[in-house]
Amino acid sequence: MSEKQIMSDKLDVYLASPRGFCGGVCRAIGIVELALKNYGTPLYVHHEIVHNKHVVENLRKQGVIFIESLDEISDMSRPVIISAHGAPLKIYRKAESLGLKVIDATCPLVEKVHKKIVRLADEGKNIAVIGKPTHPEIIGTVGQLENYDKYKIIATPQEAATVCFDDDKPLGMVTQTTLSTTEVAEIADILQQRFGNPETLSQSDTCYATTHRQMAVREISKYVEAIVVVGSKNSSNSQQLQKIAAESGISKSFLIDDVSEMPWSELHGIKAIGISAGASAPEELVVQIIDELKKHYKNLKIHDIIVVKEDVRFKIPTN
Ligand code: SF4
Repeated sequence: MSEKQIMSDKLDVYLASPRGFCGGVCRAIGIVELALKNYGTPLYVHHEIVHNKHVVENLRKQGVIFIESLDEISDMSRPVIISAHGAPLKIYRKAESLGLKVIDATCPLVEKVHKKIVRLADEGKNIAVIGKPTHPEIIGTVGQLENYDKYKIIATPQEAATVCFDDDKPLGMVTQTTLSTTEVAEIADILQQRFGNPETLSQSDTCYATTHRQMAVREISKYVEAIVVVGSKNSSNSQQLQKIAAESGISKSFLIDDVSEMPWSELHGIKAIGISAGASAPEELVVQIIDELKKHYKNLKIHDIIVVKEDVRFKIPTN
């Protein structure tokens, strides 16, 4: 029997909800679409607008050019869009010096973190920046600080246990918006024990979309033997969903870009599967997987597991 033939009579599919696009991603994609309409092509976007292969490819086909450096822009009369992850201040300065029109698609929740790190620096605090040092969001966040180096980027509990600051000034914390809520809490606890009373985690910057998608994956983990997360490999929040599935005891968890990467051979004998999608993954990719599952199983039962209803929308600037 080929992998694509019916593997079992019955499969229960648990759909995690919320899943997929968040308010910041909808806004960022909306900004690019509006700019395509208003300014035509070529249109430059600094970094991938959101970390999803399908979204990026679709925009590329429409004439969007994704760049990692403003030096890659050959026509300075064309606008440049800053991705949802945000960018360091020096990028805005350079764009201004080159006479470029900047359209900012930084997620408002990332901007909130930017304001917070600037405030902590103004207060003269040491700053623990919880996140991955190479992720564009963290590069953008620490890039809000100029002439201030009293911060350390902490990616793991082990680093939290050993990090040192040059003086004993009070400690403040900011976090990447897309990390695992459990890991952030663990790191913050360690810092709290070591440095007294850093700004508490009630002020964690993990965003609502990350938190809700992780809650939903934890919930479906109670019912399934395998979980498929739809999202690109460079999407932090998608990676975290796979990690949450594993932490919840699911030994078979997969991060896939689309239906072409479905791990069919791993699903033999599985009676219940969970599906989620990272905040940058379009819902149509989930629909395609369900359609394909319908071809493989005679009796497919779909369960919508809704842990919270989301209605967060951010306004798309019109200029
Ligand atoms: S995951 Fe959160 S911070 Fe990131 S774009 Fe979406 S809403 Fe904004």
